[in-house]
Amino acid sequence: MSVNETRDIKALIARMTLEEKASLCSGADTWHTRGIERLGIPSVMLTDGPHGLRKQRGSADHLGLFDSVPATCFPSAAGVASSWNRELIRRMGEALGRECQAEDVAVLLGPGANIKRSPLCGRNFEYFSEDPYLSSEMAAHHILGVQSQGVGTSLKHFAANNQEHRRMTSDSIVDERTLREIYLASFEGAVKKARPWTVMCAYNKVNGEYASENGTLLTDILKNEWGHDGFVVSDWGAVDDRARGLAAGLELEMPASHGEGERRIVEAVRRGELDEAKLDEAVERLLTVVFRAADGRRPGGSFDPEEHHRLAREVARESMVLLKNEEGLLPLPKGGRIAVIGAMAREPRYQGSGSSQIRPTRMDDILEELARSAGAEAELRYAPGYDLDAEEPDADLAAEAARVASEAEVAVLFAGLPKRYESEGFDRKHLRMPANQVALIDAVAAAQPNLVVVLSNGAPVEMPWLGSAKAVLEAYLGGQALGGAVADLLFGDENPSGRLAETFPVRLSDNPSYLFFPGEGDRVEYREGIFVGYRYYDKKNIEPLFPFGHGLSYTTFGYSELTVDKKTLSDTEVLRVSVRVANTGSRAGKEVVQLYVRDPESSVIRPDKELKGFDKVALAPGESRVVTFELDKRSFSYYDPEAREWTVETGEFELLIGRSSRDIVLSETVTVRSTAARKPVFRRNSTLAEVAATDAGEAFVRQLTESLPFASGLAPEHAAMLLAFMEQMPLRGLLSFSGGKFTEEALSALLRRLNGEEEPA
Ligand code: BGC
Repeated sequence: MSVNETRDIKALIARMTLEEKASLCSGADTWHTRGIERLGIPSVMLTDGPHGLRKQRGSADHLGLFDSVPATCFPSAAGVASSWNRELIRRMGEALGRECQAEDVAVLLGPGANIKRSPLCGRNFEYFSEDPYLSSEMAAHHILGVQSQGVGTSLKHFAANNQEHRRMTSDSIVDERTLREIYLASFEGAVKKARPWTVMCAYNKVNGEYASENGTLLTDILKNEWGHDGFVVSDWGAVDDRARGLAAGLELEMPASHGEGERRIVEAVRRGELDEAKLDEAVERLLTVVFRAADGRRPGGSFDPEEHHRLAREVARESMVLLKNEEGLLPLPKGGRIAVIGAMAREPRYQGSGSSQIRPTRMDDILEELARSAGAEAELRYAPGYDLDAEEPDADLAAEAARVASEAEVAVLFAGLPKRYESEGFDRKHLRMPANQVALIDAVAAAQPNLVVVLSNGAPVEMPWLGSAKAVLEAYLGGQALGGAVADLLFGDENPSGRLAETFPVRLSDNPSYLFFPGEGDRVEYREGIFVGYRYYDKKNIEPLFPFGHGLSYTTFGYSELTVDKKTLSDTEVLRVSVRVANTGSRAGKEVVQLYVRDPESSVIRPDKELKGFDKVALAPGESRVVTFELDKRSFSYYDPEAREWTVETGEFELLIGRSSRDIVLSETVTVRSTAARKPVFRRNSTLAEVAATDAGEAFVRQLTESLPFASGLAPEHAAMLLAFMEQMPLRGLLSFSGGKFTEEALSALLRRLNGEEEPA
């Protein structure tokens, strides 16, 4: 039995002074909670996260400026999400949990589930996806993995923290439906499925209120609706008014406010502005997690750095996306003459900058890894090609690179975004790569047509040079085993299986948030609404550079036998959808089967399709397997802000199986019936078309249109026009256009009848 079950936290709280209770609600320093010795309450450590442990030794800061203990650097979330592999990310989480145990860390600060609204967000490398379902599934499995080791997580940054520009003051203005369907959904799934011990609130405001003081977000939605039973911690320095925050549901302020936070809480209670019961509740949540951590502690815990390095390599491999592969240039034969070009091959960009920056236990040397995989017969020559610290092309470096490339059979060019281009704390201004790299790619391609470009970047880049490269491997920020993973894939020891978790646009201005990002002053209006990522490109028919879900393999996959367990269902039932996927090529490989749902006809504006299921399957050549998905009410719903609930509109839905969001291979249609008790409410401004759609109103509208004085003797074309015209007429309009036949009394009586209200006696 856990100590928590036997420990009476309420009794403990009853023994505390007001000051002691308030003191627990702020940190002791940058990374620790406060303890109370006389009551046996321990102090525990919370630290970053998310793709590796950043435990600072001596002096602490939260921007990664000071050194930390060595830890395994896994690929960052942008890459991990491209694996679409739940089990793999869970294993990565387990490894992270073990490293936390070894370093006595109680809570790892992550993962981040913010949606990639704009590719410019400087922190996109730390976030999973533009799609809330994929993002929440990845976050959930990260959390499940870490927490299985008796270590907590902090799902962050809640919510609508989608840019770094003015991140501590900006106000995200998001309509409720968009918030629910896109930005909150990414957190919701993870909170419900994986129960993170803590949630970190964002710096920014959401619809006028700081996330740290937002009772709707922190209490109504997170705690009450979603059932979060842990505590909320502020992002480091996100507190504005400590007492208001506590009342809204922010239990822990970080880092230490050196007595200020607790003083404000005590004052507020004394003045009667804050109910002490609210403080007790906060302390209960805090202590529940603190004791859970203390109970989960595994003294003397250790981990095997080599084993974790191997796991980092596996994660990196699955995180990389083969974007292009013309003429089957990849995989490269072993034993060839290979030119390795690019300063990034020597100085790899393997993680993002800011609070998540960690000190790796070791670092793969890309050239050594390539040489090892290429085999003893191979000949590798290296040329830097560009200066990583410069923007402008260097003619000598480029000429040398072109010469080395021309003397080889193939050139592998390492390029991407230098550190200074993307980081926590600021956004990118454009999607370009440095001019010297772009020029180099063209120059090398002119000398060596067999050109492979390997990209290291945390978010999409424009690729004006794409036509020059026969193959492109998107390696994202691949962590400490980046080199080994790239070698595994380039030489075909492993088969690429990553799929993009975000759209790569041709140009920045194609992105849906383009006109409104990063807002005016502190005001950031999410005017593109629910049309984020592929939801927008699909609806607008804009061809992306590479679509959401895209990724190539060295083998091929065939799809067949799409079946559903019922053709008609009510929205309370679960629908089972199965499809057979076969490896039709000659190499073992992994396919990501993607299931999208489309509502072809709807009274509300909906995306063209939305991801509602995915699975990654490993198949030997010739092998096939049936993949089954379960869809429930949520898979067919939109959020109805007026009714404040998820709603399915009765009708047909299309189930689309795709290799990517733009490559749909099979489809099936089902009918879903809504069980919503809520009936439409008719008002004076309800249109005749809306009225005619009901049993009670159909006859009324028919008689009305037939009885219009000018309706008789019309040519069919004019009669049709009249009908179309009348359909848009509000009931109220009949008062003016019925020649006095339709009165206020008749209107009231009709509304009562349509709304199913009793006629007054
Ligand atoms: C970041 C968080 C991080 C915290 C602690 C903040 O600046 O936004 O993601 O966990 O610092 O380092």
